[in-house]
Amino acid sequence: MPPNPLPNKERMKIQRQHMPEQDAQQRTHNFKEVNLGLPVERARQEALRCIACAKPTCMIECPVGVKVREFLDLILAEDYLGAAAKIREDNALPAITGRVCPQEDQCEGACILNKKGDSLAIGYLERFVADYEQKTGKLGLPPVARKTGKKVAIVGSGPAGLSCAGDLIQKGHEVRVFEALHELGGVLVYGIPEFRLPRDIVRQEIHNLRRMGVEFETNVVVGKTVTIDELMQNERYDAVFIATGAGLPVFLNIPGEHLVGVFSANEFLTRVNLMRGYRFPEYDEPLYDCKDKDVVVIGGGNTAMDAVRTSLRLGAKSAALLYRRSEAEMPARKEEVAHARQEGVDFQMLVNPVEFLGDEHGRLRSVRCQRMELGEPDASGRRRPVPIAGSEFTRPAALAIIAVGTTANPMIQSSTPDLKTNKWRYIEADPETQRTSKRGVFAGGDIVTGGATVILAMGAGRKAAKSVHEYLTTGSW
Ligand code: FAD
Ligand code: SF4
Repeated sequence: MPPNPLPNKERMKIQRQHMPEQDAQQRTHNFKEVNLGLPVERARQEALRCIACAKPTCMIECPVGVKVREFLDLILAEDYLGAAAKIREDNALPAITGRVCPQEDQCEGACILNKKGDSLAIGYLERFVADYEQKTGKLGLPPVARKTGKKVAIVGSGPAGLSCAGDLIQKGHEVRVFEALHELGGVLVYGIPEFRLPRDIVRQEIHNLRRMGVEFETNVVVGKTVTIDELMQNERYDAVFIATGAGLPVFLNIPGEHLVGVFSANEFLTRVNLMRGYRFPEYDEPLYDCKDKDVVVIGGGNTAMDAVRTSLRLGAKSAALLYRRSEAEMPARKEEVAHARQEGVDFQMLVNPVEFLGDEHGRLRSVRCQRMELGEPDASGRRRPVPIAGSEFTRPAALAIIAVGTTANPMIQSSTPDLKTNKWRYIEADPETQRTSKRGVFAGGDIVTGGATVILAMGAGRKAAKSVHEYLTTGSW
């Protein structure tokens, strides 16, 4: 019997299943996860909606080619562990991607059901089986090959570094991950807040890698504590994978940016997520107080959404998002935009800050803004925002958080002279093999592409692992 017993007409009558979530009022007072996960019956109901189209575009549009149709069939056969194993063939971190992938631009965006209604909730289902696997504790660790005697250093413990480590350890190589911060996980722990991605999920994945034999060393800033050349020459690493992300914040370069109360989203989120600054003095790191203050966040991506929703949870009196384009151009995940709106974020679209204004003590008091309109599309294909003459206005703000992008931290590049970089100082790497200009050195993730997505970084980590293994076994470059 085929796993889906319903004729197509019946499948299309089923509504997309709603994700249970914490009440919007309640959740702005805590950092617990907003989405609560599909119960088993709803997951099965959702899987029944797949019409098994001849050309499964969802799989083509997933950056790592997760076998969506096959894992749905396993859900329908009630083999949830089998479904999780099927996803893991292509995606090592399904509990994470099921929560944070921009599905509407990837697998779900390509789903044919979109044409007549709502796409299949592939992300919800991916999360469902991954959580099921984690709850039952029956994660089947993949077998690890016999030791090869080769040593690989991985720099950075974000999704690119972790997925590369997972694949290389299975091939029998000795793998050590060097991380600059005191906690492992990259943006998954210091950027994305707990209410979207609980830390325990990331920790569990890292624990699994440890069980497979991956070694981790924190508080090592490669390029400063030790250089790439020292790793290869003195510590005898046979290959290095650089996965250091793009963590250097970009600023607006407008007057008043130096005022007390103006932060980069990177610093703000790191203080909250990593240092638990909101629990000072129980935790060491103080946090600029948001309580009863007017907060503005500048930007329209996931980082902006995370910062503005975090400020609400820290007791902001008002939390506004200033974005110079319209909502249609916002790069943030649609779900985060909807959640932010439910939580009471004030969306100020087509608004651009032009100056931060302070008091006599150098503290931020307000932001002078200008209204914009949309003109012709720019190089990114999005319509260019154009200032409207005479539309300037001032709004009060005691805290401004800038979330307009990040760029590469140049530390490794500047301490490794034979590593080729492009004009933005991102490392140049072959898109197929992730090889750099330096023999034995590979790079991938945001440090090559610029700020992108978790799944793209993971995909690069996996490609790099394949090439590293080839290099270590054949010696050819
Ligand atoms: P990172 O995750 O940045 O990890 C790099 C690691 O390298 C870090 O731990 C860093 O400390 C370490 N490192 C840096 N320099 C050194 C050094 N010299 N020595 C040793 N270690 C070093 N993507 C999505 O798909 N969905 C989302 O919802 C989403 N939300 C986001 C929210 C925020 C706030 C941010 C900032 C990003 C978000 N992204 C999201 C983007 C996504 O997180 C990144 O594209 C992804 O994490 C990149 O992975 P990576 O492994 O290349 O780098
Ligand atoms: Fe969709 Fe992301 Fe899963 Fe691929 S990894 S199927 S894009 S949720």
